Parts: sequence; structure tokens; C-alpha cells
Amino acid sequence: MAQSRGRRPLVGSVGISNPQRVIDACSGTTKLQLAQFYQRIDRWLVPQLAKRPLSLVRAPDGVDGETFFQRHCGRLKMPHMRLLDRALDPDHARLMQADNAEAVLEAVQMGTVEFHTWNARSDRIERPDRIIFDLDPDPALPWARMVDATRMTLQLLDELGLDAFIKTSGGRGMHILVPLDRRHEWEQVRCFSRAFSEYLARQAPQRIAAKMGPQNRVGRIFVDYLRNQKGASTVAAYSVRARPGLPVSVPIARDELNELGSAAQWTVANLAQRLAALRCDPWARQGVVRQRLTRTMLAKLDAE
Ligand code: ATP
Ligand code: MN
Repeated sequence: MAQSRGRRPLVGSVGISNPQRVIDACSGTTKLQLAQFYQRIDRWLVPQLAKRPLSLVRAPDGVDGETFFQRHCGRLKMPHMRLLDRALDPDHARLMQADNAEAVLEAVQMGTVEFHTWNARSDRIERPDRIIFDLDPDPALPWARMVDATRMTLQLLDELGLDAFIKTSGGRGMHILVPLDRRHEWEQVRCFSRAFSEYLARQAPQRIAAKMGPQNRVGRIFVDYLRNQKGASTVAAYSVRARPGLPVSVPIARDELNELGSAAQWTVANLAQRLAALRCDPWARQGVVRQRLTRTMLAKLDAE
């Protein structure tokens, strides 16, 4: 932080206003520190955001205050944020996309804490390139049950011949990502995801629920497939969460599942340590896996 513009310290090329404002009372993290965190991990985060429509969760008064979920730039000043073609979402303002670290830092300067992305890239928006299952527990359940549900999900994907990648949500659960060839329409992907979740729930009705709503998952884990429709988004890997302690959503290898203690294990304070100690990127193959959904898979899921 050698230079500053007026009294705004620069992080990268972005001047941060109110740098000393505490955005998380729990950890004492300031807005400047959040920007510096994002700058340090930009090579991990930016590839997760690039090319995809983006939504922001802003917490201008800190994570204990009101938060704002934003799919459009609105009046926010973010010159490096790309504005997408109006045709991608004709009924609304233009969608946005962060393809570089400057756009990320400009969003942080505008009070952003979380970055959420679509399951499709903007150059072929009608063809999703992944499925994400969001495992949501009854909050009363012990963590071991989340590990168990993650294993069950991975095992069914294995049986179908689908490779998958996992991350902590930074909140209560796990997110399971299944890369796809960009050949299926949203509707096909949604139907598959729903059939998958319902199959799991039939397999283990005491442990898994396929219906949304707290009343449907008492004592169980909801395998949420609803993120897999056009316009839906999920928090990106390496995004901070706007929650006390500033946890981060973090990719892990399958063989780390046993050691994992919670979905909020890594935070702004300890993620750098993990990344420095990694021998290889647990998601290294995520961008190269090519797979498609088949009739055989659907037949298996639809079978009783
Ligand atoms: P957890 O592990 O605690 O469930 P999560 O990331 O899976 O964390 P949420 O943070 O509750 O779950 O996000 C739920 C979904 O709603 C996501 O698809 C997200 O993109 C979207 N979302 C988050 N905040 C808002 C909001 N204020 N308005 C509309 N959609 C939102
Ligand atoms: Mn969730």
C-alpha cells in the first residue's frame, strides 16, 4: 500500500473509501483488509468468475447490517465490470460479469462481500456448463451427517459415471459441482437434477429430503437442485460470505472430506495458509472434464 489517492488507500488500482470501517465485528476485519484479501487470492477467484453472469451480495453497513443481492450494476461505479448484452436477459437491466481482479476490487469498494455466478457462460447462455447440488442441513444435525450426505451424492454420481467437484459453502453445507458439456438445455439439466435429488431421497428417506422448506428437512439434509435453472446463481468458489467471521467457500479434494470440521472452516483469516500449503489445486481438472447427461442415466434415476 505504497500509494494513496487523497485519503483512499489503493488496492491494486482501486481506491478504497472508508478503509478502516469494520465490516465484521466478530473478526474485526476492515473494508481495506477485505479488499487486500481479495487481491491476494485473485488468481484463485477470478477464473471462477470470468465469463459468467454475476450477482453481488453487498453489505455496506457490514455483515451484521442489511445485505443487498444485486444482479445488475445499477448505479454502482465499477468501470472494469463488464456489462453483458441486453439480449441475455431482455426484461431486466444488463447483467454483469467480472473478468479481472480490478472488477472484483471495484465491487468490494462498492460494499460487496459475496460473488455469485450462473451455471452457464455468457457466450452460450442457453447451454449450462455445470450442475450444482446444494446440500442444506437441518441446522440441528451434526456435521458428520453432512459428510455422509456428501458421500452419498458423490457415490450416486460415480454410479452414473459423472465426475464431480466439491466445495464448502462457507455457511452450513456443501456444494457439489458436476461439469457438463455445453450441449444440454436448461430444461434438461433441471429435469436431471430434480430426478437425481428425488432418487437420493427415495434411497435414504430418513437422511435426505428432495423438497424445499425447513419443515421438509427436519432431521434430514435437503439436496437442493433448484440452483440448476436459468437465472439462478450460487456463491462462487473462493468468495467470502457475508456472515460473522467472514467464512469463505472453499474447494476441497474428496479425500479431505474426512478431516473437514465444518463448512465454515476457512475464513478470510486462515485461507491463505491453506492455499500456501496445498500441493495441488483440488479442482485442477474441473475445467477439462467433459461430460454429458444420457438417457441411460435418466432411466436409472426414474426407476423405482
Ligand atoms: P448455506 O451453506 O448456508 O446453505 P448457501 O450459499 O448454500 O449457504 P445461501 O447463501 O442461503 O445458501 O444462498 C441461497 C441462494 O439464494 C443462492 O442461490 C444465492 O445465489 C441466492 N441468494 C442469496 N442471497 C439472496 C438474496 N438476498 N436474494 C435472492 N437470492 C439470494
Ligand atoms: Mn446451501
